[in-house]
Amino acid sequence: MKSQGSVIIRIRNQKVQNMLIDTHAHLDFPEFSNDLPSVLNRAMQKGVQRIITIGINLASSQQVIDLAHRYPQVYATVGIHPHDAFLMDEEALSIFRSLAREDRVLAIGETGLDYHRDRQPRAIQRKCLNRQLEVACDLKLPVVFHIREAFDDFFDIVRPYAHSLGGGVLHCFSGDWNIAVKALDLGFYLSIPGTVTFPQASKQQDVVKKAPFDRLLVETDAPYLTPVPFRGKVNEPSYVYYTAKKVAEIRGCTLDEVASQTTSNACAVFHLNDSSTPRSDNES
Ligand SMILES: [Zn+2]
Ligand SMILES: [Zn+2]
Repeated sequence: MKSQGSVIIRIRNQKVQNMLIDTHAHLDFPEFSNDLPSVLNRAMQKGVQRIITIGINLASSQQVIDLAHRYPQVYATVGIHPHDAFLMDEEALSIFRSLAREDRVLAIGETGLDYHRDRQPRAIQRKCLNRQLEVACDLKLPVVFHIREAFDDFFDIVRPYAHSLGGGVLHCFSGDWNIAVKALDLGFYLSIPGTVTFPQASKQQDVVKKAPFDRLLVETDAPYLTPVPFRGKVNEPSYVYYTAKKVAEIRGCTLDEVASQTTSNACAVFHLNDSSTPRSDNES
């Protein structure tokens, strides 16, 4: 059933909560290979009715597309992570373009610049990001960005493309409020991971408090960045519930409001139709 633009889900005829979307998970990673159906089931039990699983290279992008075809609540993105930036040659680019056109692919990414780990030469990271921005502009797709300690170069590169893209998400947003403002000015969304639950996350919590509500998303980055109270365990999409709960606490609103708003934001940026539900047996 629908109410005021939000989707209320029911499991066994009992109202659970508004639907949540985990906008960034890596369901193709080996941590999930043995029990993905139970991971997805636990997510559903926590109201996480959609999961966007993220490609990090060509093989991973193909795998996440396969998962999106197998599970109706799963959607895919096609990307080459900055750690794999050397892979983007002309041949890879043509495979990349055809993967990006596949059904159930919502976005390009994750792509970006990681000057924290610096696993690839920075010039190669920048070139790989540029190639993916060109594809995103051609296909009018939104882009999921992974940016660590590289915001100056990122804004220089992305600014000329920003209004030709189908939108943008700064996944696992790690910048301060000044950086957030620059991203918001370009129309981008800020995706908040489980680290916001950590006691030392004051910079991230400040961004959550000040950001316009209609530009916030929640994500897990599963299997990484497990939120409190499960730190030390493998992260999974059901735990995005705890991140949303923390966002509600920081903003002084209800979990339902966070679920409703972040779901509608995710539907907007990823061009998902929020009136359709992936599994009709969970609705009544
Ligand atoms: Zn990332
Ligand atoms: Zn990721």
